Amino acid sequence: MPELPEVEVTRRALAPAVERQRVDTFEVREFRLRWPVPRDLAARLIGRRVERLWRRGKYLLWEFEHGTLISHLGMSGAWRLWPAWSAPPPGPHDHVDVGVSHWLLRLTDPRRFGALLWHPTKSGPIAQHPLLASLGLEPFDRRFDGEWLYAGTRGRSAAIKQVLLTGQVVVGVGNIYASEVLFRAGINPKVAACRLGPARCDRLAAAVVEVLTEAIGVGGSTLRDFVSAAGDAGYFMLDAAVYEREGAPCRVCGTAILRIVQGQRSTYYCPVCQHN
Ligand SMILES: [Zn+2]
Repeated sequence: MPELPEVEVTRRALAPAVERQRVDTFEVREFRLRWPVPRDLAARLIGRRVERLWRRGKYLLWEFEHGTLISHLGMSGAWRLWPAWSAPPPGPHDHVDVGVSHWLLRLTDPRRFGALLWHPTKSGPIAQHPLLASLGLEPFDRRFDGEWLYAGTRGRSAAIKQVLLTGQVVVGVGNIYASEVLFRAGINPKVAACRLGPARCDRLAAAVVEVLTEAIGVGGSTLRDFVSAAGDAGYFMLDAAVYEREGAPCRVCGTAILRIVQGQRSTYYCPVCQHN
């Protein structure tokens, strides 16, 4: 499943091709994604200029003067970029083609849990869109630090891993990265969020930024796959310290990594390095 690092790498791959360029063609072949794709997107977007391609959480936001196209990759979605002259014919899971300058951008989504929605400027700031309004701070926002995490976890008695997954304090820490950042910070995933003191919040905030930065770096090295006939889904992962390593030796202390289930999702951790 694409996580924040995949979406950020996608943004970095597509932005140079589309920003400040006009949409020449816009073809939707499948309108049944997680929510129906608006029927009038082509009419709204053809001839209009993409001002900026940015990201909020896992939402890729195509900003136009008259509104924002909201794209979410769901479980299996990916945007691919082709020089228009070399794009192959669309396959059965290639639902949307966008022609911009001499590029073709193609949305592929086999499971169709992704989304493509339109938010007109006259409906108000995009930040207040129902999908975006309750998102926590961006991990790369300057305001995100241990103090922010400390303040955001007061009164939250759920396990810290669960609180990270809600995205209400900070976005971008999905199931894989939650295990990884808690290992990096030496924090037990079961500890109640409100029990973390300032020192552990500092370590956790630093780990969030480090792990996501490293993941984006790994993805950045696969950027060429976005502009390639061979480009498959291109999801990537750090060389995980704990995720899906149940029973394998901890790379720091050699203890067997444990797997537990929290909120029906697997969590991996080292009982020694993350003893409290
Ligand atoms: Zn260990």
